[in-house]
Amino acid sequence: MIYLQPVGFSNIELLEFLKERLSEKFYWLEGVKILENLEPLESCYNRSRKQFNSTCLLFWLRDVWITLGVTSYDLYADFMNFVFGEAELNGSRAIVSTYRLVGNKIKERLLKEATHEIGHVLGLRHCKNRKCVMCFSNSVLDVDEKSDEFCESCRKKLNKY
Ligand SMILES: [Zn+2]
Ligand SMILES: [Zn+2]
Repeated sequence: MIYLQPVGFSNIELLEFLKERLSEKFYWLEGVKILENLEPLESCYNRSRKQFNSTCLLFWLRDVWITLGVTSYDLYADFMNFVFGEAELNGSRAIVSTYRLVGNKIKERLLKEATHEIGHVLGLRHCKNRKCVMCFSNSVLDVDEKSDEFCESCRKKLNKY
């Protein structure tokens, strides 16, 4: 099961879209459930940066495999001006932000970044194939360049296709 945890996130249409697409993509995880919205933990907020610390929010999420936080707040991590998301490699939790994905491609972009973070939870590292969803994205242009699919080599590592 994948739990979608809205974190200060109220766009039901986007959550329903993610639910539908992620349940097809990760069919062997047997379903996606949308949880009740939670407001983010105040102490994860950095007032001078006006951003939430993604690592702080990540470890605040319920430790239930797989929990994907979806937030509209801007996220940063150590040594990074911003991040689209973060995940526990081979862990249980991940988080994605729509803050820098807005525009008419928001659905595809969110699906890509959500798939990317779940890939990390399932043990995948970054991939050099620029079309692969596991390719690291520095900018929204990079996000647009990649697909929402795992390349053949990543698929083999997942061992589920
Ligand atoms: Zn990544
Ligand atoms: Zn790949």
